[in-house]
Amino acid sequence: MMIALTSFWRRGHGETAAPQRASVVEGRHAVAGAPQHGAPQPHVVIVGGGFGGLATAQALGSTPLRVTLVDRRNYHLFQPLLYQVATAVLSPGEIAEPIRQILNRHQNITVLLGEVDGVDLARKQVQVNGSPLTYDTLVLATGATHSYFGHPEWERFAPGLKTLEDARRIRAKVLLAFERAELEAGPAARERLMTFVVIGGGPTGVEMAGAIAGLARQALARDFRHIDPTTARILLVEAAPRILSAFPDDLSSYAERPFCLQALSLCPRQHHPRPSRKPIWRGSTRTGAKTSFVAAVASTAASIVVSTVALTAASAVGLTVASEDLGGQWLTAD
Ligand SMILES: Cc1cc2nc3c(=O)[nH]c(=O)nc-3n(C[C@H](O)[C@H](O)[C@H](O)COP(=O)(O)OP(=O)(O)OC[C@H]3O[C@@H](n4cnc5c(N)ncnc54)[C@H](O)[C@@H]3O)c2cc1C
Repeated sequence: MMIALTSFWRRGHGETAAPQRASVVEGRHAVAGAPQHGAPQPHVVIVGGGFGGLATAQALGSTPLRVTLVDRRNYHLFQPLLYQVATAVLSPGEIAEPIRQILNRHQNITVLLGEVDGVDLARKQVQVNGSPLTYDTLVLATGATHSYFGHPEWERFAPGLKTLEDARRIRAKVLLAFERAELEAGPAARERLMTFVVIGGGPTGVEMAGAIAGLARQALARDFRHIDPTTARILLVEAAPRILSAFPDDLSSYAERPFCLQALSLCPRQHHPRPSRKPIWRGSTRTGAKTSFVAAVASTAASIVVSTVALTAASAVGLTVASEDLGGQWLTAD
């Protein structure tokens, strides 16, 4: 999500753009970016170096504006390929590029590494690591974060896929599950270790489930001696009547074929969540049959909510932001 808060440039010639209170961020910015002569240039602060923030910065690059891009990470992340990092097809460096490098040809852009933890609309300042940075126009492009349907405690068992850390965590869990299965003597324990659950049958969930299948059936197929990775179960859980519901029917049926009966529809409010180290997921299939399974690895690609800093600023200027959070109505586990 991206919000732009603009104020017209009303300062006259000779008026200073410097804030009344000096700060590390302002001081560093003045040295790094602003020309020191002539009329002060309007200062655009962009928070977030994702797709939205980066596109804004690139559009404002090499213009007479003074632009500062702030991100809590020093790299731009190509999120659409996160699932390939999570399934060991790509390494993290292949989908992350330094923001400075992307923007370094634009002399009017300064990149700051920092966390924006507050916006003061009256003073036209954002707080970067606790220090104020003054803007004339503010662009909040801070993206979205996961929603766990009102159950943040589920994250421990079913990590989302939004950051490189998430992808690394899922990759470690998936690969370790096969390693542990190789050491395991009991068939039930092996089955559990080789059962993977992806929650959310949108594009990310389908890609993720398909990539785990590719890992099990191709990349790892010949690497073990006591287990057969090709027998791994990959369950794609979707509450809607079909996966890829934003796409035409025939495309979602085509995508569903490899998952066969594994596309499950979980019953609303069937169980109260009780986090455990070995999550057991229960639901009913489309045919109405009850099913339950124990999984070693679960990952969620189900729902998102707007980032906190954008939500706070939006509400301060009277905007209402729609949220996809279903408040625990659909998905429960015990
Ligand atoms: C796994 C996955 C697969 C996807 N696949 C596709 C696809 O195939 N096609 C498609 O069109 N879209 C896809 N998307 C969606 C797409 O990636 C997002 O819509 C897009 O990244 C949103 O861009 P954004 O700039 O709004 O936010 P983001 O890209 O999330 O960027 C937000 C930036 O803000 C920074 N930030 C956040 N809060 C702060 C703060 N307080 N202080 C400082 N910095 C902050 C973050 O570090 C981040 O760099 C996918 C998303 C995911 C997660």
